[in-house]
Amino acid sequence: MEEAIIPQNTEQQDSENKQAMLAAIIDSSEDAIISKTLEGYITSWNGAAERMFGYKGVEVIGRHISLLIPREKLSEEDMIIGRIKNGLRVQHFQTTRVTKSGSAIPISLTVSPIKDRDGKIIGASKIARDITDLVRSQQELQMLYEKIQQLNLKKDEFIGVAGHELRTPITTIKGYLQLLESQEPEGTARQFAEKALRQVNKLNRLVNDLLDVSKITAGKLEYHRISCFLLPLIRDSLDTVRQIYTSHRLEAELPQEDLIITADGSKIEQVLINFLTNAVKYSPGADQVVLSVKKEANRVVVSIRDWGIGMAAEHLDQIFQRYYRIQSSEHAIGGLGIGLYISRDIIIRHGGEIWVESEEGKGSVFYFSLPLPE
Ligand code: ADP
Repeated sequence: MEEAIIPQNTEQQDSENKQAMLAAIIDSSEDAIISKTLEGYITSWNGAAERMFGYKGVEVIGRHISLLIPREKLSEEDMIIGRIKNGLRVQHFQTTRVTKSGSAIPISLTVSPIKDRDGKIIGASKIARDITDLVRSQQELQMLYEKIQQLNLKKDEFIGVAGHELRTPITTIKGYLQLLESQEPEGTARQFAEKALRQVNKLNRLVNDLLDVSKITAGKLEYHRISCFLLPLIRDSLDTVRQIYTSHRLEAELPQEDLIITADGSKIEQVLINFLTNAVKYSPGADQVVLSVKKEANRVVVSIRDWGIGMAAEHLDQIFQRYYRIQSSEHAIGGLGIGLYISRDIIIRHGGEIWVESEEGKGSVFYFSLPLPE
């Protein structure tokens, strides 16, 4: 007989110990832990609930939970109880509740069903966390983000205005230099005129690039697409870059037959010139660049290969972003970090794709594809 009683006592004691431990955990919790019946009447209230909402346990036990809910949010209780009755939890639900003094506090709410021994749902336990600090830092972050966006917008506007202001004097200088060249000067005068004209053309391209960036960001860059041949665009781009850089051999692997594309020819040339210029610029130790054109089923793929400094894998996704440049103490190569951003916009807006393969120290291959008309 005695043997049968001892385990029962131990079981009861175990259960009491467990209860006491749970009560201690609940009471020392930083989160408010409240239980209520399915009708919404409060059945327990821990120390943190007291501190958070300002009511003592004796003041609220037996009262309805709507005591804590702002009037405009009363319908939330129906939603919560609806889920609980179906055995579902409500997790990390951000809302507002009111304290005894009437002030609203932002909270994160997790509500779970309470079941009896038979598994029947008899109430709900709710854990409320005060997220005032979190909400405040989220608001501060949002304000900071908006401020940065405004500054960014101002910077873009400035670049647009500065670009316009620079364009007029550049056009005038270019006009005079062309006039000078047309008079066929001789000797050093001719050399100087040619050199000055080359630099003015470079400056012109830079300013046009800056203007393009501000148009792209404002969604105002327009493309005038017509049917045109691809190979003349490639040959013209190669000629332009050959005139600027004499350090590298620019070779071309072109198909026998020309290809017709529907494109804004000057913009496709802009991409080609950017790719070719980069291939030369970023391969100071090499002397060769190879451009190749391949026709595939319904598209043409143009690639430009160099044997230059290449890039580490972590940069490959980012170099098409505005102003992104790889900083290197080893190779100080000038640039604005906008050429690839513009090229990407041009190719994407023509229905094509743009990508790169590269290995640091070995070189890069830049690709773009354009759809071919059926
Ligand atoms: P920019 O050359 O004026 O900096 P781009 O937008 O054309 O601007 O290129 C962005 C960056 O991508 C460059 O600063 C450079 O770090 C990297 N990059 C572009 N082309 C090459 C290349 N052929 N080889 C190695 N790095 C390149």
